[in-house]
Amino acid sequence: MIQSMRKFTFDQAASRVVFGVDAFDTLADEVKLLGGKRALVLSTPEQEGIALEASRRLGAIASGVFPRAVMHVPIETAREARETARRLNADCCVAVGGGSTIGLGKAIALESGLPILAVPTTYAGSEVTPIYGLTEDGLKKTGRDRKVLPKTVIYDPKLTLTLPPKIAGPSGMNAIAHCIEGLYAPDGNPIMTLFAAEGIRALAQALPRVIRAPEDIDARAEALYGAWLSGIVLGAVSIGIHHKLCHTLGGTFNLPHAEVHTVILPHAARFNAETAPEAMRIAANALGVDDAPRGLYDLAQSVGAPIALKQIGMPAHGLERAAELATQNPYANPRPVEYNGVLELLRNAYAGARP
Ligand code: NAD
Repeated sequence: MIQSMRKFTFDQAASRVVFGVDAFDTLADEVKLLGGKRALVLSTPEQEGIALEASRRLGAIASGVFPRAVMHVPIETAREARETARRLNADCCVAVGGGSTIGLGKAIALESGLPILAVPTTYAGSEVTPIYGLTEDGLKKTGRDRKVLPKTVIYDPKLTLTLPPKIAGPSGMNAIAHCIEGLYAPDGNPIMTLFAAEGIRALAQALPRVIRAPEDIDARAEALYGAWLSGIVLGAVSIGIHHKLCHTLGGTFNLPHAEVHTVILPHAARFNAETAPEAMRIAANALGVDDAPRGLYDLAQSVGAPIALKQIGMPAHGLERAAELATQNPYANPRPVEYNGVLELLRNAYAGARP
């Protein structure tokens, strides 16, 4: 019997999901269904074009475009966006983009309660989680509030065709990381195990195809489907050593989010492999390999994603500090999180060793 089958609580707040090629065409209808009459469209500066297109499609029910979302939702950006929403008298937000843009929508929703319609264009999964993050004085704080869970999500694989392989690979590995931790989370449940296994399967099959042939719309659709499942898992369970380490490394050493996930994942899986054998068996099966940690490492390599912390800006002298920070506040993880084990994990990840 799997761990999560012994005793569990299933309490899933669901979003309305519209999935498929050209699903973006339903944008105006979906905003109306939400009761929106003055939608504020959010994006990063790089994706302003698609935000303007969204606004054009909304026509009279658009109130404006705020194209200034940036990574990790700095509080200054959140304040500026909240003020814009107030000034324009917006009654909902349409967030078109990755986790950074959807995160900005959540920052607005957290304060104002405005409903969010998310149009994700990466595989981060934020669009189906009640998790928000805000960065103040260099420190990222995260929390959970159902108010920030987008009410509607439009997944259109066409919008991911422009996602370059160097973003798509790590973004997909980041999604797989949500699934891996969902398989051994103490508050997991059999439904989340199903979602996690299917998320890993879909992403592991689709990502190499996405990288090989970025215009393959079927591969893009399957990757996006896997990302949706992985986001649901992330929103439903508590995170373990993998996510905590990534947050520590990202926050303290300013390493790129999805790339850190990609590098750490095989080593975090190896760290937990002996204490979470059933989770590893399910993961290996979903990956189509014998050994999950090595399968994750090989997948990252096959999609051209970074595999070593030294490749992505981690200073060698920071490993001990990172291990200290990661072991300061104990958290639920199958294997106890102690300094020596974490330092060994980090050293292997720094070198990019196959686990
Ligand atoms: P991102 O949103 O920062 O996007 C990365 C870059 O890719 C940006 O420049 C963006 O404009 C560009 N981009 C996005 N989609 C594109 C597309 N289809 N074509 C071309 N360019 C595109 O990256 P991300 O990995 O999606 O999100 C990372 C952030 O999300 C982090 O801050 C992370 O902490 C957060 N996150 C939050 C949750 C949650 O549940 N709250 C979950 C996952 C990630």
